[in-house]
Amino acid sequence: MLSGRSTDGWVCRPHGWLRHYAGLLGPAGTTAAGIMVRDRPGERLAAVRSSLARRHQSRQRGLVVAPGGRMAWRDVPGPPPPGPYGATVHPLAIATCDMDRPIILAATPFPLPLHLGHECVAEVVAVGDEVRTVSPGQKVVVPFQISCGACPPCRLGRPGSCTGVPALSMYGFGVAGGGWGGAIADLLGVPFADEMLVGLPDGIEPEVVASVADNVSDAYRHVAPHLPGLLAIDPAARVLILASLQQRQAFTSSMPLYTGLIAVALGARHVEVVDARAEIRDLAARLGLQPRSPTDLRGIEPAPLVVDVTGDPAGLVAALGHTAADGICSSAGGLHARGRFPLLRSYISNVTLHIGRTHARAVIPQVLELMVDGRLHPEAVTTQVAPIDEAPAALDQHCRAGAVKTILVAS
Ligand SMILES: [Zn+2]
Ligand SMILES: [Zn+2]
Repeated sequence: MLSGRSTDGWVCRPHGWLRHYAGLLGPAGTTAAGIMVRDRPGERLAAVRSSLARRHQSRQRGLVVAPGGRMAWRDVPGPPPPGPYGATVHPLAIATCDMDRPIILAATPFPLPLHLGHECVAEVVAVGDEVRTVSPGQKVVVPFQISCGACPPCRLGRPGSCTGVPALSMYGFGVAGGGWGGAIADLLGVPFADEMLVGLPDGIEPEVVASVADNVSDAYRHVAPHLPGLLAIDPAARVLILASLQQRQAFTSSMPLYTGLIAVALGARHVEVVDARAEIRDLAARLGLQPRSPTDLRGIEPAPLVVDVTGDPAGLVAALGHTAADGICSSAGGLHARGRFPLLRSYISNVTLHIGRTHARAVIPQVLELMVDGRLHPEAVTTQVAPIDEAPAALDQHCRAGAVKTILVAS
């Protein structure tokens, strides 16, 4: 725990070391470990070894999370000098991801301790000789996923499935993400600067756009590919977003709210957000979205586009159950190894289900365009802005009820 603080009042009790490591041996942990062991274990091991070898070469402070809700600044390895295609960047504004609270609670299959932070806007500090599109001093959005830009999935616009780096290579997920370091630090290494970094448009402040590196872009992909076609058929087509079916929820709820804002920006007139927490329903209402309680679900008509962001197998079942005939259900999935699936109902109603991770880099420019046009204001979802030096206290606050999005800003 933070020195002199307790986790009293946190939305869920954090898991201690024993429960955390027991969880890693459960179905979700072994599934995640299986992916790591199968996909280039040598490269992953080399990344960890190289970060240990850097321990005495370049050091910096990084916000490290350990079981029991412990968060503190620690000495961590700094990024290596950028190779010919890489860059070193200085994070200016770092956003919490909806996944960060469960990580802090030690309730995910990502082994702790880990160096936290994977959504940021940064200033370029140094670039390699072959880098052409960014230069020192420029402000950039740093996608949370590492992608090479050259492999077949990258060339098809699917950077989240990049095969040029080990699977699931991401900042802020410790060894599970490939050991690329965390964004809550003074410096971050970017191995493929031209392919990954997106210049920040003039007039947009880093703290407003920090979450575009992941959650806002993740929200965009749930609605943008589907909504124009649905609205062409029926301009009054409804969008139903399932945020949380439970009052005590470790995941924060920025993504469902961003999804609602993006649906409205793209022309939807009827956007409903289902959440068991009154404070999230209140925020949804203030954002112009229609709040619904899970107890209302029985009376809610099926919608042609349903987005499941619950992270809960029961949420996916409810989403599929509320998808209209020939409709689309887009699910962000979750961290459960398995769950029930309403096969017959989905078959009869001709549901198209998409479940999986985002390809953040591919949609970041489109999200920025919506912001430049003044049609999207992600800052409306932010509940806390704090100086990065106060990260441990700000993240403590972030673990309490009512928190949605915390932005840490460099001084
Ligand atoms: Zn994330
Ligand atoms: Zn690639």
